[in-house]
Amino acid sequence: MAQAHVLGLPRIGAQRELKFAVEAFWHGGMASGDVPALLATGRSIRAANRRAQRDAGLDWITVGDFHWYDQVLSTLALVGGLPERFGLGAADVTLADYFAAARGRAGQSAMEMTKWFDTNYHYLVPEYSPRTRFGEGTAWLFDEVAEALAEGANVKPVLLGPVSLLYLGKETGGLTDRLLLLPRLLAQYERVLGRLKAQGVTWVQIDEPILALDLPAPWRDAFMPAYARLSGAAPSLLLATYFGDVSEHAPLLAALPVGGVHVDVVRAPSQLATFAAAFAQGSRPPQGLQDTQWPQAKVLSVGVVDGRNVWRTDLARVREQLLPFAQALGDRLWIASSCSLMHCPVDLAHEVRLDKEVRSWLAFAVQKLAEVALLRRSLDTVEFARADVRAAFAANATAQAARRTSPRIHNTVVQKRLAALQDEHARRASPYPVRAKAQRAWLKLPLLPTTTIGSFPQTGAIREARAAFRRHALSHLDYLETMRAQIRLAIEKQEAYGLDVLVHGEAERSDMVEYFAEQLWGFATTGHGWVQSYGSRCVRPPVIYGDVYLPEPMTVTWSAYAQALTDKPVKGMLTGPVTMLQWSFVRDDQPRERTALQIALALREEVAALESAGVRVIQIDEPALREGLPLRENDWPAYLEWAVRAFRVCSSGVADDTQIHTHMCYSAFHDILPSIAALDADVISIETTRSDMALLDAFEAFEAFEAFEYPNGIGPGVYDIHSPHVPSQAEMERLIEAALARIPAQRLWINPDCGLKTRDWAQVDGALTHMVAAARAVRARLVGAQAQAA
Ligand code: GLN
Ligand code: ZN
Repeated sequence: MAQAHVLGLPRIGAQRELKFAVEAFWHGGMASGDVPALLATGRSIRAANRRAQRDAGLDWITVGDFHWYDQVLSTLALVGGLPERFGLGAADVTLADYFAAARGRAGQSAMEMTKWFDTNYHYLVPEYSPRTRFGEGTAWLFDEVAEALAEGANVKPVLLGPVSLLYLGKETGGLTDRLLLLPRLLAQYERVLGRLKAQGVTWVQIDEPILALDLPAPWRDAFMPAYARLSGAAPSLLLATYFGDVSEHAPLLAALPVGGVHVDVVRAPSQLATFAAAFAQGSRPPQGLQDTQWPQAKVLSVGVVDGRNVWRTDLARVREQLLPFAQALGDRLWIASSCSLMHCPVDLAHEVRLDKEVRSWLAFAVQKLAEVALLRRSLDTVEFARADVRAAFAANATAQAARRTSPRIHNTVVQKRLAALQDEHARRASPYPVRAKAQRAWLKLPLLPTTTIGSFPQTGAIREARAAFRRHALSHLDYLETMRAQIRLAIEKQEAYGLDVLVHGEAERSDMVEYFAEQLWGFATTGHGWVQSYGSRCVRPPVIYGDVYLPEPMTVTWSAYAQALTDKPVKGMLTGPVTMLQWSFVRDDQPRERTALQIALALREEVAALESAGVRVIQIDEPALREGLPLRENDWPAYLEWAVRAFRVCSSGVADDTQIHTHMCYSAFHDILPSIAALDADVISIETTRSDMALLDAFEAFEAFEAFEYPNGIGPGVYDIHSPHVPSQAEMERLIEAALARIPAQRLWINPDCGLKTRDWAQVDGALTHMVAAARAVRARLVGAQAQAA
């Protein structure tokens, strides 16, 4: 019979226990933090995860998926590969050392963080230099394995594989090819795998997710020798791939000396047939390797339960899909989650407030364990006939059928609008130069106009008022008055700074996606649907379950209230369709682009409502546009086309003289500049000043724009809001001058590089006063020069 397992579980705990324990440890001071309390929390989360797997009836108990901060960092610590700049001896790394590498400490910056493939999880980027040695590292993994083995057999540790660990890092200190470090790294993997074997482990899951990327040939070629070397010392290895199609590597994976391979059948269903065929007959060793060390018949683990989303699996459909292969592969077929379940919230049982019907369509990590086990049982005739399996399949079928027809999902008004969508809806009436002229006529902005990105400091009092209103501890009246007082404060302050285009400040928003998700039909928000974003930070993505419909304007009252307080233009503030999509759990019953267009249509109405209420500068934030890029470059053009179209659909319904802004939290979009330009926003603000290399970053971004001749208005951030540092007028003047060397003054805007919600008022007062003064000083020089020339 087939076997059931998952690739990993969430490690944050059902009530975010890990977050609270880790943060308490940090606040106690790294060294003096309460180590026993932290260790106890880790133990209890791991015990709960093992229990959940056992209760579900999985054949394998996955361990090694628990990490205090990040799986890449933990693997580095295990093989003694933490960056040398922290000066840590490999073997005696403490928890405090580990966290220091993750978060930095006095005089040492934290390791860089970047997105884990196309998820919203962020990992710490390994740093490899010519001095990188590797060595015996932490023993945490072995302790966790022992902990699990004490409860019974069939413990399957999971480990990030050596080729991926190297590939996902960066080269420093003059190293030119980190692949050269592989032999040294393999020695450590041999040690680790040998020790696991000595502990009594029979299978190890070794993750090599980079196989789903556009992998350069030398990296692909590294797999065969690496795994040939590891197979000697190791227990049976299950080489796990996920997040994409790896069928191009099928011959390699069939020939690799590992016990089995895992493929993600949710992302790439056609892989199932490819790999089942490749594995059905068993494999043959390549020339020069001995038959005896070759696993003759490989295990094929198929990821059929979606580890990236929150929907119940259509059990009957997946069973049908699996049946033919179950016969051919027998107990060499393993049924699994597509990837680790760490990208799902923990347990649906905690969602007591969620709409009952919507809830009946969902499965979080704990529910997915049961699905994997059920699917495995359903492949066995005797098991499939049992009452509990039958009942579970029947209940599942009822939920699937309801989802296909529920009016909560299928909204005919939205579908008609979508069908009526024409190309002209994605095009402004006139080209940019015509619009710019019309906008200048009424906005009468000075040269180098100043503005901000939207949010102002979210003080404790603001957050407390919002929370109190939610728990009905603050009346609606008091809530409105508190928010309006904030708007008045923000407007007063902006007038005092002398800004040209003002904002209302976004005090009413807890989060730029959640705020809209709570008001749009077709979105649900959860109470406890937390997933790890990085370290101790968790996010609660909304769930898009149905056709997206705007029941009533979402932002007009706030923006119009602000506009009524001032003669200066107030900029309305929306989150764009791609970002709404990207930071939510999305429907799996229609393509992403269709959902994006539905959101765009709803936002288009919001834009129209703002415009007719007299808010005629409107910013549509798209910080997630770039991170939505697919893993494989071949898939980029199709994505960019629909992403750009969605933005244009929501922004193109306005008059020429209504000014559309957009904002992106990065400047590294050299590779997608044509698409950024194709958004055809009148003004774009971008981030350019991050890190101590402010000027360098800025220059790079400007140069990219210059080379491309970005055609519309642009505001490269001149104030790095990520730091508490208040830049001087002179610093910002320098940045403005640098920008002017590349962007014509007529199209240059002056603004911070992101929203100000994480700053305090004292910092904002200082920075924005300096920013306005800097803009005025440069403006005066420009006007003076023009006068002289005339
Ligand atoms: N308007 C948002 C703000 O100012 C933009 C945030 C973002 O780009 N991440 O907070
Ligand atoms: Zn931003």
